[in-house]
Amino acid sequence: MKKTGFPRFFAAVLLILLGSSCKSGAECRRETIFAFDTYMTFTVYGDKADEAISAAKERISALEKLWSPTDPESEIFRINHRTESTVTLSAETSGLLRTMLDVSEMTGGALDPTLFPLEKEWGFISGEYRVPGKERIAALLENTGYENITLDGDRLTLPDGFELDVGAAAKGKAADIIADCFSGIGVKSAVIDLGGNILTVGEKPDGGKWSIGIRSPYGDGTSGTVKCVGRSVVTSGNYERFFVEDGKRYHHILDPKTGFPAENGIISMTVIGAESVICDSLSTALFVMGTDKACAFLAGNDDTDAVFVTSDGIIYITAGIKDTFTYTGDGNAEIRIIEGK
Ligand code: AMP
Ligand code: MG
Repeated sequence: MKKTGFPRFFAAVLLILLGSSCKSGAECRRETIFAFDTYMTFTVYGDKADEAISAAKERISALEKLWSPTDPESEIFRINHRTESTVTLSAETSGLLRTMLDVSEMTGGALDPTLFPLEKEWGFISGEYRVPGKERIAALLENTGYENITLDGDRLTLPDGFELDVGAAAKGKAADIIADCFSGIGVKSAVIDLGGNILTVGEKPDGGKWSIGIRSPYGDGTSGTVKCVGRSVVTSGNYERFFVEDGKRYHHILDPKTGFPAENGIISMTVIGAESVICDSLSTALFVMGTDKACAFLAGNDDTDAVFVTSDGIIYITAGIKDTFTYTGDGNAEIRIIEGK
C-alpha cells in the first residue's frame, strides 16, 4: 500500500502578492513568521510600520493560543475536552463561530465546524494518514452536524461527542482582527498574508490597487491576478493538504454529507470580498458545493466575487471582477463569467 503525505507548508504562499516589494522611497517594513502551521507575512507602509508589525505578531500568537486544535491549553482544545455541555467562549471565538454557523446555514451545511472527529480519523490532524472504512465514517458522522450545536451570545452548547474545528475560517478571522488593529494604530496601507489568505488594507502607497496572484492548482505558477483595494482574497484547494493511497488522492476538505473528501468538480476556489472571515468560510463551503451550486450561490450574492477552477480545466469568474481579472495560466483555458441576478 503506497501512502504519501505532503507537509502543510505546501499551503504557504498559496497566493502570491505581486508588485509589492518594500521599495526604497516608500517607508515599508515586511516580516514573515511561522504560526497556525503556515508562513505569515505582514507588509506595512508608513511611519507606524514597526509598531503595527509588533502588534500583529502579538495578536497572532494570542489567537493561535485560542484556536489550535492540538494545544492542550487552547480554547478549542478545552471545548473539545469539556466536562459540561455548555461552555462560555472568548469574544474572538464566539465571533468566529457565529460567522461560521451563519455560513453553514446559508450554504446548506457545506461548511460544518463540527467535522473534527472525521479530520482526526483521516489523519489530517496528526499526519498519520489513512482511509477510514465506510462504517467508521458513518459512525463518526453521527457526532457531527452544525445544526446540533447552539451559540447564544458567548454561550456554546454541544451534544456529547461533538468536537469543533475552526480551521476553515480561523486565518480569515485572524486577518480581520489584524486589519482592525492596523487601522487602530493609524496604518493606511498594508497587506496581511496569512499563509496565502490575503487581506489588503487601504490602497497601495502610490494610491493604486494591489495586484494579487491566484496560485494555479497545477503547480507553482498563477492562474490569474485580481486587482483590489481593501478586500480579501482567499483560496481553498485540493492540492493544499493531501495524501495518496493506492493511486488515489485524498485531500483535507471534507464533504459533511459523506465524510469523504469533497469531489464535486472544483479543484480550487478563490473568494474575494470585504471580510476575510467570510471569504475563508465561503472558499471552503463553495469548494464543497461544487460547480452548479457554487455558480447559483455566487449569482445571488452581489457582495462576493470568486474565481474557481474545475477538474475539467474551466475557470469561472464572477461578473464583478471581469475587468480586473487577468488570466496568467499556461495554455488557453476556457473562462466562463458568472453573471449576477
Ligand atoms: P480551508 O483551507 O480554509 O478550505 O480549510 C480547510 C480546513 O477546514 C481543513 O483542514 C479542516 O480542518 C477544515 N474542514 C475541512 N472540511 C470542512 C468543511 N466541510 N467545513 C468546515 N471545515 C472543514
Ligand atoms: Mg477556508
